[in-house]
Amino acid sequence: MTKNKSNYRPAVPPETKRDLYREAGNKCANPGCPNRLVELHHIHEWHVYQTHDAKHMIAICPTCHGHAHYGEMKIEESTIRSWKKARPNPSNTGYLYIEPGPPPRILMGRIYWNRKDGDGAIVFQLSARNQVSFRVIPGNILLASLVVSDPVGNAIVELRENHLIHARREGVKFEQRPGQLRVTVPATDEFVSCAMIDNFQTSYPLRLLVKEERITLIDIQVIDIGTVQVEGVWIEGDRAVVANADFVYIHRPGIGFNGWTGYDKVRGDKDLSNLPLVTFDGPLEISVMQAFFKIPAF
Ligand SMILES: [Zn+2]
Repeated sequence: MTKNKSNYRPAVPPETKRDLYREAGNKCANPGCPNRLVELHHIHEWHVYQTHDAKHMIAICPTCHGHAHYGEMKIEESTIRSWKKARPNPSNTGYLYIEPGPPPRILMGRIYWNRKDGDGAIVFQLSARNQVSFRVIPGNILLASLVVSDPVGNAIVELRENHLIHARREGVKFEQRPGQLRVTVPATDEFVSCAMIDNFQTSYPLRLLVKEERITLIDIQVIDIGTVQVEGVWIEGDRAVVANADFVYIHRPGIGFNGWTGYDKVRGDKDLSNLPLVTFDGPLEISVMQAFFKIPAF
């Protein structure tokens, strides 16, 4: 049987695919699009040219692909060609989209934080290099600043105005899907101070945070409209804040760890509607956690 050329379309060779994904930085080649799931677009349409020529192909996401072919905001060929500039490295950025809608809230452990009015709140600030703050614009929430640093003060993760940058560094693993960003690191003193690692290895519930010799440094997830869950580990010298889905722990010198779980009930059923809500409308110099737990500065 002979192949009819007009109907036969061979698969794109794996090396062509790989080169095009790399060229796009392992994300959608559209610099205005955060999508990671990509497919190959033939700038020279297959049905006309019948060739898989990388010079005339590009890795873009299915949404952008749709706009390249049709749609009210069609993406012009000249625009698509302008995206075909090889990036030197895979992208090390992510973006957290939070569907707007009242009331904007941050969930840490089993406690929600929000701000009645004003333009934001510091959840806590161990230092400029280890902190969480958020900003509220009408009906919307922005993680204004979320920074996690290593023991010598180098930022491993920085999230500003919902844009995340993670360090290009051996051992740092970044995962994302729409609505969730997660960074894990090896449980070594390169990333977490020695004294704290001992706590993580031995004391319950901190050792729950270590899985397969790795610590989840930050895990941010949009769990509802306008609502973000923040889990993570922030360490500054002998002070620390640790939050996962079930608790918030604070470590202070001379005191050790204090933990808060909100309600006693485990939130395994994911019914989060009755969790305590802490509203803060005080000055920005005081963190929400400090005011709520009535503790002196961290
Ligand atoms: Zn795209």
